[in-house]
Amino acid sequence: MSDSNSNSSLPVVSCEGCGVCCFHMGFPAFVVPREPMTEQQIDADPELRKLPADSIRRAELLAGHEGESWWHRLPAELKEPLVEHMSQYRQPDYDGTLESFDGPCIWLDMGTRLCKHHLHRPNVCRDFETGCGDCLQWRKEYADKIDV
Ligand code: SF4
Ligand code: SF4
Repeated sequence: MSDSNSNSSLPVVSCEGCGVCCFHMGFPAFVVPREPMTEQQIDADPELRKLPADSIRRAELLAGHEGESWWHRLPAELKEPLVEHMSQYRQPDYDGTLESFDGPCIWLDMGTRLCKHHLHRPNVCRDFETGCGDCLQWRKEYADKIDV
């Protein structure tokens, strides 16, 4: 546990006892491989057909994705249960409250508030820097739940 986190006037340098930015992920947000879709497949989907013809999202669906490198490096013993979890996951109905977002990431250790598989975490988690503006905002939202 870092003493640095216990004084809000000092920079945040440790995630131990915090973990609040992982409270609403549901599961590690890897970019997984996706086959390219056709325009016909997009237009057959009641939600996707609302995408404007020139939207970035539609272009991404048409292009498909080979998946991020961390996904391909993920050991089978982690990937298999994660694929199972992702296939069954249902996002809660959002009612405007923090509590109605996705639940804690399944890789978050609620005891230490650290990632159980830190070495295997996805790009989005690697890009989120301890002490950045969004980190400080999450810590402010959950000040009463940070155990440092
Ligand atoms: S909110 Fe900041 S300090 Fe807390 S776990 Fe996330 S990155 Fe670490
Ligand atoms: S993979 Fe690890 S760092 Fe990323 S959201 Fe889940 S617990 Fe947090």
